[in-house]
Amino acid sequence: MNKVDRSRGTLIGLAVGDSLGGAVEFMAPGSFAPVTGYRSGGPHRLEAGQFTDDTSLALALADSIASVGWDLNDQARRYVEWWKTGKYSVNGHCFDIGITTRTALSTFLASNDALTSGETSERSSGNGSIMRLAPVPIRYADLYPNDIEKLSQLAEESSLPTHASEQCRSACRYMATVLAALINGEDRGKVLSPTWEPLAKLDAAKPLHPQILAVSKGSFREKQPPAIRGGGWVVQSLEAALWAFHDASSFEEAVLKSVNLGEDADTSGAVCGQFAGAFWGESGIPASLREGLARYDMLDTALEGLLR
Ligand code: MG
Ligand code: MG
Repeated sequence: MNKVDRSRGTLIGLAVGDSLGGAVEFMAPGSFAPVTGYRSGGPHRLEAGQFTDDTSLALALADSIASVGWDLNDQARRYVEWWKTGKYSVNGHCFDIGITTRTALSTFLASNDALTSGETSERSSGNGSIMRLAPVPIRYADLYPNDIEKLSQLAEESSLPTHASEQCRSACRYMATVLAALINGEDRGKVLSPTWEPLAKLDAAKPLHPQILAVSKGSFREKQPPAIRGGGWVVQSLEAALWAFHDASSFEEAVLKSVNLGEDADTSGAVCGQFAGAFWGESGIPASLREGLARYDMLDTALEGLLR
């Protein structure tokens, strides 16, 4: 397993988790037969292995970074393109845009300023910007460990077009730093430890939101469902993903555990899949899950652009 394999795993893992969860999105925990592989159905009536908005937005972000470098307005324009034309979607249609994202993109269409289009209120702290984050740590992995200030700043900025609350911004800063460390081959136990040195640096550069800091200090080790929930709030979602990832023995175990929490299952899977894919690499994702993924070609093209 090398750095390219782990970089690829971060985005493929996102898509695998998203696709596994799509069939049970919005279902109460325990109310469905546990997910063990791709299945058709769910609220969007997808075919087995088809991904949702989480992956589409990640593909849009990846395309922006690969095409024009770092340009928030361009990122927002590509999100709009997905929303309005279905580009980056699995089947040619945008069938599931979150309320926070839609509101922010409407603001962007009127203002043309992605820096200020996202809602800053704490009430708007959904998981929509961590679910699409992978392209940032993949492209900028080399900023770890010497310039995590810059890395975390880019991650935070990537949240702004749609999710500008402090919780969302902090979550992106922390998650991108963890992902970049894993992509660089750092040990999972070390990276998730409350005494991990980059965590202190992150918090010193700009204090993390207290609830994100609590997650980074290991809240996910002390809880079990129902205290752990696969909900749509950024703190819940990040905590649930790390709960599933931190002690799993394989990619598959981690991602299935997160998806089987139900509720915002596709996004729990997408967030957990980024951690698990960065840690186990694309080669650690079972062939059945890689080969069963719809539109693998779109992910492959995005990765080629990001890793060029
Ligand atoms: Mg989704
Ligand atoms: Mg979702």
